[in-house]
Amino acid sequence: MTRSLLPHVFRFAPSPNGYLHLGHAYSALINARMAEVAGGTLLLRIEDIDAARCRPEFEQAIYEDLRWLGLAWEEPVRRQSEHFDAYAGALACLDAQGLVYPCFCSRSDVGSVLAERPDWPRDPDGSPLYRGTCKHLSVVERKARLAAGQPAALRLDMDAALAKLGESPAGWLGWREYGRGMGGCETKAEPALWGDVVLARKDISASYHIAVVVDDALQGVTHVVRGEDLLMATGLHRLLQVLLDLPAPCYHHHALLRDAAGRKLSKSLRAKSLRSLRQEGMTLEAVSAQFDFAQDDLVFVP
Ligand code: GLU
Repeated sequence: MTRSLLPHVFRFAPSPNGYLHLGHAYSALINARMAEVAGGTLLLRIEDIDAARCRPEFEQAIYEDLRWLGLAWEEPVRRQSEHFDAYAGALACLDAQGLVYPCFCSRSDVGSVLAERPDWPRDPDGSPLYRGTCKHLSVVERKARLAAGQPAALRLDMDAALAKLGESPAGWLGWREYGRGMGGCETKAEPALWGDVVLARKDISASYHIAVVVDDALQGVTHVVRGEDLLMATGLHRLLQVLLDLPAPCYHHHALLRDAAGRKLSKSLRAKSLRSLRQEGMTLEAVSAQFDFAQDDLVFVP
């Protein structure tokens, strides 16, 4: 086996907002196998910025489930809820470049565009693109609303961000994709599909998108292996990495496990948890036998 001399740092990054299911087990095992093949390191990151949905018992269950799967990871585990200052630093850096603005709109303000225009474009997650109401507020009005304590989210000014990107020598934005037999092909990033995406919510001072790019860089992650439902998000992550001057990992978006109806396994659709499968007597061998690792090239170099 040829091993690269470069460090290979992989991570599995679950959110403790429910129990892990077979889809998580597949993702965790594929990360562990790739780290092993590459002679690299596996990190575990707990993505728990959403305090309203995350619970300590789910976090404990993650450790138990992963140990049951035979995984080992480097300590200490990074818990995102302990690093809001790092995400605030990244947001301040974007602010200093004039690339974010406060948004006072409610969720229903943002969604109301669909009542008027059902064909209004949506982002890859299915949310309507923001129509820019607060982008056009005067500086005076913004300041007054903030001074009055009106809660505000923080949005990326996508046009300004793309203009900034145009100035950079990189010009063309993409990433090296290894999933689904892509073998490291340069894949075009399409961040504009996300419009003026929220980078900090009114109630949570960082979004998944900002936290993930900051943490992958801070933790020296070189290989991001995650489900292909995050493929389109990678375009946005690459844009944020360029704007924040962070290194680009390479990516492997793996196949998703689906139920009999073809829907991806998810906590929201109440996919059966690993712990209940275990309680029903399912063995680790039986879990692994469900997975077709061959569909996801395990050799992830260079
Ligand atoms: N925390 C995300 C999840 O549980 C994973 C994000 C990622 O791997 O980038 O789906």
